[in-house]
Amino acid sequence: MAIKVGVIGTGNIGTDHVTRLASQVVGSKVVAVFDVDTARAERVGAGVGAVTRATALEVIEDPVVDAVVIASPGDLHAEQVLACIAAGKPVLCEKPLATTTADCLKVVEAEVSSGRRLIQVGFMRRYDPGYKVVKDAIDNGTIGEALLAHMVHRNAVVPDSFTSSMAMTDSVIHEIDTTRWLFGQEIVRTTVVATKPSPLAAAHLRDPQIVLLELAGGGVVTVEVFVNCQYGYDVRCEVVGSAGVVALETPGANALIRDGRRIETVPADWRVRFGATYLAELQEWISGLLAGAVAGPSTWDGYAATAVAESAVASLESGAPVPVGLVERPGLYT
Ligand code: NAP
Repeated sequence: MAIKVGVIGTGNIGTDHVTRLASQVVGSKVVAVFDVDTARAERVGAGVGAVTRATALEVIEDPVVDAVVIASPGDLHAEQVLACIAAGKPVLCEKPLATTTADCLKVVEAEVSSGRRLIQVGFMRRYDPGYKVVKDAIDNGTIGEALLAHMVHRNAVVPDSFTSSMAMTDSVIHEIDTTRWLFGQEIVRTTVVATKPSPLAAAHLRDPQIVLLELAGGGVVTVEVFVNCQYGYDVRCEVVGSAGVVALETPGANALIRDGRRIETVPADWRVRFGATYLAELQEWISGLLAGAVAGPSTWDGYAATAVAESAVASLESGAPVPVGLVERPGLYT
């Protein structure tokens, strides 16, 4: 038996998901695709024997489609996820769940009304072996009581269209989810601190930036986001506990030591660094669906992450700490 998947959006990550679902994930088949770029959708769909539909709704309502992957631009996610809930179809929705908390809450309400979880949000770092080691060290008490963390999110370069707030909503949103998941607590306040800008970043961009995430239990997480670091894609995470420290290792970063030098490889981009992680995420999603369950990062996680990102954008604009206000968590997500 295979889960028949429809994919909406066949750009960067959508194409990667199609390829993995069709050729590497056990128990899935891609049967339908849609993208506003019809030629791209046809090319990607033809490569895996999937039909190209004329609209996103046609994919969602196709009776052959068991489950949907949403990999369209973020501002379309809410509408497309709501259509999936209306059709009773499970969804793996790329981050963000929606670009505003108001839209996230519409999805929360619709899913709660449906009475069951249908949505998993694409916070794939939870499936990364390195992050799982960090999580286990916290949960097992190996480092004592987790007190604080230092995180780094660096990209080699970004296009000119990238803005200072996108550093929060597109990049740091991963650290926001990672923080909530690792510590098992909500983030209650954010502060964004501008530093001396890189002369190699676009003039309109504040880059790098430092973000402080304050946790409900009193812990603090620092995030450096630097999207024009030039040298590669570098994601780091170090959690400091009362009895020790656990640090994330970059897989495949083997060291070459000779001639008095130690040389390590840095991944070129997120595709290289997290390739195996996306595969693990997709496999667990499909295996869960075959077993009749939807697990993984929930609609609540998507909502909370967007709320924190929104507060970080407000802090970036005002220069002051900004509290994160969340509604009461519905029972479906406890
Ligand atoms: P992308 O390359 O721009 O792909 C998005 C695709 O959706 C494009 O082909 C775009 O076509 C198409 N599209 C536009 N309007 C559409 C519509 N109404 N219905 C369906 N498709 C539509 O972007 P991407 O980098 O793949 O990102 C897609 C989503 O994945 C974003 O939410 C992003 O944040 C997320 N993402 C997550 C990760 C992760 O690490 N989890 C990594 C990368 C991306 P046009 O180009 O013609 O507009």
